[in-house]
Amino acid sequence: MSAESIKSFASLETPGYVGFANLPNQVHRKSVKKGFEFTLMVVGESGLGKSTLVDSLFDTDIYPERIVPSAGEKTKQTVKVEASTVEIEEKGVKLRLTVVDTPGYGDGIDNTDSFRAIIQYIDDQFERFLRDESGLNRRNITDNRVHCCFYFISPFGHGLKPLDIEFMKQLHNKVNIVPVIAKSDALTKKEILRLKMKIMEEIENNGIKIYALPDCDSDEDEFYKEKIRQLKEAVPFAVCGANTLIEVKGRKVRGRLYPWGVVEVENPEHNDFIKLRSMLVTHMQDMQDVTQEFHYENYRSERLAKGAPIPKRTTSLPDYEKTNGNMESISEKDRILMEKEAELQRIQAELEKIQAQMQQKAS
Ligand code: GDP
Repeated sequence: MSAESIKSFASLETPGYVGFANLPNQVHRKSVKKGFEFTLMVVGESGLGKSTLVDSLFDTDIYPERIVPSAGEKTKQTVKVEASTVEIEEKGVKLRLTVVDTPGYGDGIDNTDSFRAIIQYIDDQFERFLRDESGLNRRNITDNRVHCCFYFISPFGHGLKPLDIEFMKQLHNKVNIVPVIAKSDALTKKEILRLKMKIMEEIENNGIKIYALPDCDSDEDEFYKEKIRQLKEAVPFAVCGANTLIEVKGRKVRGRLYPWGVVEVENPEHNDFIKLRSMLVTHMQDMQDVTQEFHYENYRSERLAKGAPIPKRTTSLPDYEKTNGNMESISEKDRILMEKEAELQRIQAELEKIQAQMQQKAS
């Protein structure tokens, strides 16, 4: 990993380079051929720069189109959840990226309902995966589960708002939360440091579990260890986005032009944009693993404990049992599918038996 990791991190710091070509370092060749699936959810009050940042991150116009509500509409607005998917290819590596936007979040006078639609969306994707997993075509499941959630924090407050704390508390067992300080060009370096410390303190005091970057192996090279240390230290990432290219000393850079100078999006001295992008690209696989092993498992076991029935599969195949072993008239492909189907039915029956036993114990 070491030589590759040096190359990956070095190239991720190249302006204008997204870095998906580094994905083969993380995934099996088979899934690279098939394409890598990743879903990023973006949450935060409107106007914090979410769409600008996401478009800057992937160097493309992928943010879901939206209609900006009028001031009057805002008071009665409920949260919507909108997904849009694009396929991006870089050096032969395909990424099927879905961005999930949550317009209306935090915009109402009463925000108690702000989480319901978001939680429902995340659970619906788990449910869909659960159903597909117990289906016949398990090898080709499209993974639409939400692997990461960028949570945008206002740079103008003195830390987290009650809404921020409540959101993270309700969602931290369902999704990998990555907190970001929006529009960090509004703050001085000292103010950013102070705000970061305050936010981390509040996250800890409220028992919130944000996405934790995994520790390095002890035999990892020093360059890689140092990069990971810098990424960990940068949380919550203080970012700045822009849709315009500006000329600075003969170079075209993504930036924001002010009367006193240019804030360069991809300049690590100016903000944490590059760090956030490196973190995302180098940890996509880890975030998927955490989603599978922690968040999805949580959902599955809670669902089993509640005793809700596992979704039944439907099939148009003839019933294996009813053939009485006379399989000659059936094609090889159908025969294999039918055997699989019978096996799955057996597993499903077992699961239902376990559910019934658990329900009996609970009552
Ligand atoms: P969203 O509603 O959260 O998606 O916000 P938008 O991306 O639509 O941005 C809202 C406004 O803020 C636009 O005028 C952007 O140009 C501006 N904006 C976006 N990102 C930044 C940033 O990093 N710094 C500053 N100062 N303004 C930004």
